[in-house]
Amino acid sequence: MELWGARLYGDPCRQCEFDWSLSPDDAVALVRDLPARYERLVEGRRGDEGHPDLAWNVAAYVSHVTDNLRNWAERLVGARLTDVRSVPGYDADLLARARSYNEISLAGALWSLRGAAEAWTESMSLALEDGTVLEHAGRGPQRAEDVARNNAHDAVHHAWDIQRILA
Ligand SMILES: [Zn+2]
Repeated sequence: MELWGARLYGDPCRQCEFDWSLSPDDAVALVRDLPARYERLVEGRRGDEGHPDLAWNVAAYVSHVTDNLRNWAERLVGARLTDVRSVPGYDADLLARARSYNEISLAGALWSLRGAAEAWTESMSLALEDGTVLEHAGRGPQRAEDVARNNAHDAVHHAWDIQRILA
């Protein structure tokens, strides 16, 4: 079984210090406010800034967070509307290559993030209300609240990566 969440990253996360005890509602609020947080973080930057230890540049991290939110929002909607709860994992690195993350313009990536965060917030709020539980191919049962915390962590963790790049 694939390790995920606090067992993988530590509680708090050993790198970004994310506190996994946040409530599902706090996770939703965090993602709702994410576009503004990221816009502040990259204000005045080009997006192609990189770090010797990291394969992705600033705009690529924005695109990854966007696609991660889209993927999970879509899976939760699918499970809630059809009761087919089995979901596959996805290969984030393969997706990065397919979409050429490092060549996406920062303005475009931020625009996508706004749409993804809004759609995710709607999907997640309904999934939490519904008590949706996914059966993930690699991770086993994933309650809506587990997904909310995981996705909030992904966003905070990569904000930390962006900060490292821009430091
Ligand atoms: Zn982290």
